[in-house]
Amino acid sequence: MDVRKEFDTLARKLYGRPVKQCTSHELFHVLLQLAKEAAGERKVTDGDRKIYYISAEFLIGKLLSNNLINLGIYEEVEEILKESGKSLTEIEEEEPEPSLGNGGLGRLAACFMDSIATLGLAGAGIGLNYHFGLFKQVFKDYLQNAEKDKWISEKGWLKKTDVTYDIHFGDRVVKSRMYDIDVVGYEKGLNKLHLFDGESLDESLVKSGIDFDKTDIEKNLTLFLYPDDSDEAGNLLRIYQQYFMVSNGARLIIDEMKEKGYDLHTLDKHVAIQINDTHPTMVIPELIRILTQEEEFTMDDAIKVVSKTCAYTNHTILAEALEKWPLDFLEKVVPVLVPIIKELANRVKKEHKDPKVWIIDDEKRVHMAHIDIHYGFSVNGVAAIHTDILKNTELNCFYKLYPDKFNNKTNGVTFRRWLLQCNRPLTAFLDKTIGREYRRNADDLTRLLAFKEDEGVLNELEKIKKENKEELVKYIKKHEGVDLDPGSIFDIQVKRLHEYKRQQMNALYIIHKYLEIKGGKKPERPITCIFGAKAAPAYVIARDIIHLILVLQEIINKDPDVSPYLKVVMVTNYNVTYAEKLIPACDISEQISLASKEASGTSNMKFMLNGAVTLGTDDGANVEIHDLVGDDNIYIFGADSDTVINHYAKADYVSKDIYAKSKVVKEAVDFITGPLCMKTGHKENLERLYKELINKDWFMTLLDLEDYIKAKDRIFADYENRDKWRRMMLVNISKAGFFSSDRTIAEYNRDIWKL
Ligand SMILES: *Cc1c(COP(=O)(O)O)cnc(C)c1O
Repeated sequence: MDVRKEFDTLARKLYGRPVKQCTSHELFHVLLQLAKEAAGERKVTDGDRKIYYISAEFLIGKLLSNNLINLGIYEEVEEILKESGKSLTEIEEEEPEPSLGNGGLGRLAACFMDSIATLGLAGAGIGLNYHFGLFKQVFKDYLQNAEKDKWISEKGWLKKTDVTYDIHFGDRVVKSRMYDIDVVGYEKGLNKLHLFDGESLDESLVKSGIDFDKTDIEKNLTLFLYPDDSDEAGNLLRIYQQYFMVSNGARLIIDEMKEKGYDLHTLDKHVAIQINDTHPTMVIPELIRILTQEEEFTMDDAIKVVSKTCAYTNHTILAEALEKWPLDFLEKVVPVLVPIIKELANRVKKEHKDPKVWIIDDEKRVHMAHIDIHYGFSVNGVAAIHTDILKNTELNCFYKLYPDKFNNKTNGVTFRRWLLQCNRPLTAFLDKTIGREYRRNADDLTRLLAFKEDEGVLNELEKIKKENKEELVKYIKKHEGVDLDPGSIFDIQVKRLHEYKRQQMNALYIIHKYLEIKGGKKPERPITCIFGAKAAPAYVIARDIIHLILVLQEIINKDPDVSPYLKVVMVTNYNVTYAEKLIPACDISEQISLASKEASGTSNMKFMLNGAVTLGTDDGANVEIHDLVGDDNIYIFGADSDTVINHYAKADYVSKDIYAKSKVVKEAVDFITGPLCMKTGHKENLERLYKELINKDWFMTLLDLEDYIKAKDRIFADYENRDKWRRMMLVNISKAGFFSSDRTIAEYNRDIWKL
């Protein structure tokens, strides 16, 4: 394609003007069309064996820049825009972000789609076309409010297809339609992300905020991602969504098998289905149902072939996140699956005496993960330590039954988005210093190690970080109205708000620092603490933690004694777009989950790749980062996972004891309900959080707080040793290659999919 010519032709065709005279909004639509045409010149990757990645979430983020990069036309487009006095950054602002995921799990699925396409594998994603995705976060009165976030417009990346199905629920039939988004691989490769939608949706059902009638399934089915599941109607809607997703997926897979002329008895030869967490589990009984009821398979044959086709990825050991659906709920929503699930459960029960591995428990709840493990051929964790915990503790009784099914696939992120797209200056510098091969072969980043003592290179890295911080300062000023100092240390914690991720521990450190500064002990260099996090609307304590952080932001930033040395900002509506601005500007990457609880984490990888130094616990992929960079290039603190697991086993952790013994801990915790916070914030939220910390503290914040304070003071002090710090940056970037999702996907393919 002649990009320059086509760009101009499209601008004139769509808007009757040359590029120079188009608005940013118009140019977005011109480039959207251009990218679609360029993608159209590629052929969809096919083969006689195909991977279907089924996931309730695909947190794809904006696609324009990503697609231009992968199509190899980003630089040319940028050049043309520059000549017309425009920039891609401005035009990107016009693109709505599809927030079709909550956080890490959904973002992983998006990175995987990019790598599957890039590696030239025959594969497709299967998910749902949520009209409003995840909610949009706004802050009012220091509290989180949720609003709907409409991302679908007349013209966008979605392509309406003519694939439709009738999906039969117990009490109704809903007509579906498939929409496709092209997934463009880097330099080559093209796959499809199939998103299914209901045909009878009614967006006007959503009145204020994100409230709507949860019982009107025809109209609400795919309006939102995981609506509030704190009540029965919310739970039922989630089951409707899950069955809708897998039933459409199963039909599509079977149709494609038939179209290619394959015998369904050879399903496992031509298809691998990766079940991303338990949300798509019902694809197993649904396939068995279709094969036995519509394709004349015996139950034995159907179970056998489906079990050899499906593989399961576990993402968490948090008990509350492992889905267990009451049998009555399934009976109501998908009665056709219940006899199949009972049959699967009976077979397990007959074979295994231990009720811990049964599918249906004595409270008549269906353990979805147990279906996956018994009736899938692979079970993988998402980081080395996580897989070890699954094998040795959490799923040990299953591991003993099926040792060969268990395997580890340490997560990764796509470097196209998390380096090439979000950090242009660093990308240009790497191209110049180590050549461009790392773009395809991420391990090539280790070539940077040769420059560890090179003043010029170290200076350049430092300069790039400074520029990125200046860019972020402008962005935050524009979006949050907060003034930050780019000369300060940028300490960033961005991720979903959850007690196990321990934003509350970071907040307690900030209180500690505030009190120190008030007492006259000033830090050598100002510190900027940045948070970004959405809390599930029904998760009360998570919302209280957001409240505390917003209250601290108000108190600290307005205190003239303290704000020259310490600033706090919680950015609004943290999403992929925001992540792309924050990550390149970070000095210190906060990865402080309670050891054993963060399955992997992926923001830790994105930060490392962009030259931040990790301050973290030995948890998730931090353990592997630690191994790669060594003790000298990471700051590890806190109880290790064995200690934590032991505390849970013995139930001997008492946060109040630590609170009573440690002056530092007590001072910080007491501040939450002290006069300053109570004057700015709300008594109810602050007191609830205070009580939670001293009476329960399920994720052991107080256990690690003192060690965290020490580690943090150490890392701030080391920041002043600029030579040491710049070398740490360089080592972190150099060793990040392992965390490319291309490596992860190559391993999935080598060990599980075998395409
Ligand atoms: C990478 C990413 C996450 C995952 O962050 P963790 O710190 O690994 O939990 C969540 N949300 C967004 C928008 C991301 O880009």
